[in-house]
Parts: sequence; structure tokens; C-alpha cells
Amino acid sequence: MSKETLILDGNQVANSIKEALKERVKRLVQEGTTPCLATVLVGDDPASETYVRMKGNACKRLGIDSKRVVLDQMTSTEQLIHVINELNNDPSVHGILLQHPVPHHIDERAAFEAISIEKDVDGVTMLGFAQNAFGQALFPSCTPAAIMAIMDAYHIPIEGKHAVVVGRSPILGKPVSMMLLNRNATVTICHSRTQNLDHLVSQGDIVVAAVGKPNFIQGDWIKPGAVIMDAGYNEGNIGDCDYEACFPHASAITPVPGGVGPVTIATLLKHTVDAAERSMKA
Ligand code: NAP
Repeated sequence: MSKETLILDGNQVANSIKEALKERVKRLVQEGTTPCLATVLVGDDPASETYVRMKGNACKRLGIDSKRVVLDQMTSTEQLIHVINELNNDPSVHGILLQHPVPHHIDERAAFEAISIEKDVDGVTMLGFAQNAFGQALFPSCTPAAIMAIMDAYHIPIEGKHAVVVGRSPILGKPVSMMLLNRNATVTICHSRTQNLDHLVSQGDIVVAAVGKPNFIQGDWIKPGAVIMDAGYNEGNIGDCDYEACFPHASAITPVPGGVGPVTIATLLKHTVDAAERSMKA
């Protein structure tokens, strides 16, 4: 094949998002408001601890405050909601991120719903999802927004294209499907009960992998010239697509790591700065 496959560089997209935030953070601080993201971690899952630490460090590097709340594994739903309400009422906090997953005994949905919409910078509430579906989100979920930001940064056409999304979780598959639909793609949403998945994926001009299974999407499922957005992040830095096998068929592909992940974090920072600016106008 003579054509080159374009590697969609998430680090580069993330850096340009963060670069654009520096001036805004500086201005906010001069005006007396330091943007602040509160992260809430329940329990001691090592992967979640790592994610929360990465997000806190990313904040620090940009001059954004991060307030870490770590709660015991045995925290009840009521106690967690109480903590979230305190953060809702704390004017120095602009964004709240409750790290998913919380321990099984907690009603995660109830906890997410406790986050006030003005501070839902991770786009986890039902209202946030609905706003996103209507194309009017204050803060769309960060990973879907990151997928769209990468496609826009590389001027990948969306309108009229057939997008096949594999996965329908409330934070990823469903919201990214709505965003693609709002941009006039024709969207097929696949999930664990989908039949003839390989056939459906092979019709996609754009394939979004949001499955949570390493190397799940196979190279021979990919339509020649398709754009592959791999949101998967599995143990050992492995995506949901078999990268080596998909690469020669694709016109463009996100690597793992260095694709959707860094843009997701940059989007979270952007939403926190947006929220801080909004709080100044309130
Ligand atoms: P999730 O909640 O576990 O959802 C997985 C989805 O995949 C579900 O909708 C499930 O279908 C579907 N699925 C499972 N097995 C399937 C199969 N055999 N065929 C077709 N569909 C299947 O996962 P998630 O939170 O959306 O995350 C998905 C991936 O993205 C994970 O690798 C995760 O680590 C990654 N992620 C990355 C970032 C980032 O910043 N890069 C952020 C969040 C998540 P059902 O609905 O029928 O169960």
C-alpha cells in the first residue's frame, strides 16, 4: 500500500490545549481566583490512586490548585455525598472529580448525581449527559471531548461519515456517540450483545474503540482508510485495538499510550479553568 497512516499525536494536541490555558490561569490568579480541582478517591485501588495523582500533578504544572480528598474504603454512600456537598458549597473549589470506580457497596450513580452541574467538570451527571446529547454541554465527559478534539486538531471530516462506536458506557461510548451524531455522522453503537460485530466495524469510516479489552478490535475488521480512535487503556499500556494489525488498514490512528489519554487530562484542566472563569461571572 502506498499511502502513509497518520499517527494522531495526543501529546501534541494536549500540549496545545495546555499552552492555551496558561494565559487564562495567569489572568484568573491576577484577579484573585486560582482555579481548583477537587479529586475524591474512595479506597486504595492502586490504578485509581495513580490516575488521581496524575491529574493532581497535571494541575500543579499549570498553576491550578488541586485539593485531594481520600476517603476510607468503608465510606458509606451518605458519607460520600456529604463530602461532595461540602465541595459543592466551597467557593474555592471549581471542579469536582469523583474517581471511578468507587467500592461496590457505594451507590456510584447517587454520588455522581450529588455533584453540582457547575462543578461537574468530568461530565458524569445525568444532566451533563443530557446537555451533551442536546449539543449544549457545559462540560461534556472528558474522554469523548478528547476524541473529538483530536479529530478536530487533525481536521478529520465527521459530517456524513459512518462512525462505529464499540462500547456504550455512560462516560465514554454513549456520550461520544451523541457528539458524533451532533456533528452529523451516522452512528452505529455496538456493545456486548451486538451480533456480527466484525461486519459492523468493517463499515466504519470512523471507528471508536471504548471496550476495555486489550487488542480487541482486529486488523481485518477495519475498512481500508478508516480513522481509528482508540480510547482503550488496559494494563501494560495496551489499547482496545490491535494496533500493529489495524495500522496498515487505517488512514489515521491514535496510539496507546500517547493518544486519547493525555488529551483527556488536558480537557479536564480546560474544564476546570472554564468553571473558574464562570464562577467569576456568577
Ligand atoms: P466499561 O464501562 O467497562 O464499558 C465497556 C463497554 O464495552 C460496554 O458498553 C460493553 O457492553 C462493551 N463491551 C464489552 N465487551 C464487549 C464485546 N465483546 N463486544 C462489544 N462490546 C463489548 O468501560 P469504559 O469505562 O467505557 O472504558 C472503556 C475503555 O476506555 C477502557 O479500556 C478504559 O480503560 C478506557 N478509558 C480510557 C480513558 C482515557 O482517558 N483514555 C478514560 C476512560 C476510559 P455492555 O454495555 O453490553 O456491557
